[in-house]
Amino acid sequence: SSTPDLPELDASKLKITITKNPKPFIEDVSGIEWGNQDVCTDHMITAKWTDATGWEAPELKPYGPLEDLMPTASCLQYATECFEGLKAYRGYDGAVRMFRPNRNAARMLISSTRIALPSFPPSALEELIKTLIAHDAPKWLPKPGTCIYVRPTMIGTGVALGVQKPREARLFIVAALFPILDTKPMKLLASSENSIRAWPGGFGYAKVGANYGPSLMAQKEAQSRGYDQILWLFDKSCLVTEAGASNFFVIWRNRETNKLELVTAPLDDKIILNGVTRRSLLELARARLTGTEGEIEGLDVIERKYTMHEVVEAAQEGRLIEAFAAGTAYFVTSVIDIHFRGVDIQPLEKAGKYTLLLKNWLQGIVYGKERHEWAHTI
Ligand code: PMP
Repeated sequence: SSTPDLPELDASKLKITITKNPKPFIEDVSGIEWGNQDVCTDHMITAKWTDATGWEAPELKPYGPLEDLMPTASCLQYATECFEGLKAYRGYDGAVRMFRPNRNAARMLISSTRIALPSFPPSALEELIKTLIAHDAPKWLPKPGTCIYVRPTMIGTGVALGVQKPREARLFIVAALFPILDTKPMKLLASSENSIRAWPGGFGYAKVGANYGPSLMAQKEAQSRGYDQILWLFDKSCLVTEAGASNFFVIWRNRETNKLELVTAPLDDKIILNGVTRRSLLELARARLTGTEGEIEGLDVIERKYTMHEVVEAAQEGRLIEAFAAGTAYFVTSVIDIHFRGVDIQPLEKAGKYTLLLKNWLQGIVYGKERHEWAHTI
């Protein structure tokens, strides 16, 4: 907790109340409307904090509304809210795995710190996440090859009409069924100058709700114009940052060296989210794709600032080979079209081999086809 002598968040103190009214199981997840339908599992975990008493013992209890939230709660008035998103996967061998949950727990602490919510040991959050999944996966994640989405959240709950640091907070963790997504390739609309997602000194690196609400107007425009997501640009120079709520990668051939490069924006200015998928793909590419092997030409793996003008030039010169978005929800998805200032550009490959390789490696790890330390068996 933020005060040294007060009780810490402690997963070993978990109190467990199993539901007496289990929800009907949803057999067919293909039709569920992700985001618009309450498809949460039977239980949730909650924990209360106050600045005077520290963290109370967390509870696993039946999933349901937060009943004691006042209209003046800090989160409702001043967006003191942060969250995480990760998944639990039922492997083809029957085991349930989570992908690098320690990374999400660590990032949640970075986010909560940014909005003056209390600190906690990330390992305690990781253990609570795993405990919820251990309870609900047997019923809610029965089929190999499927996954459920886990949403840890922290909110400032204290009554706060005065703008001040939250004095009470609530952590909760829920899990929701996840539809089987059609991984159809994506079309992106580059953001315009009057729509900026994040800026240096801001909070783009934090997974706070305040980053997402204000992005929806642009998202709505993208969809009304036939695009799937916004490609967020920054600065007059049109730096490429992220795609929707995913990180973004291009594979192009360097004009001078003629070498293939896998390029993504750097974390330097703290304007993009440090994606777990992003980091993992960079690590996999550095380990497995830098040397030429058989049909697969080696590539350089580069985190650097790059502009939309460079992407357009590469496309016009036939050097833009592949592009993809990467994140927990939509995994690794090919990008086949980007609209920027009246022009649509397309990478040469619609389902590029590097995109597919990286996607298959990750998928192999989360579903247990490849044994890897990133996959934590529950
Ligand atoms: N960028 C943003 C803005 C996001 O919300 C997400 C989803 N958490 C990502 C990137 C991808 O991060 P991850 O791979 O950890 O899901």
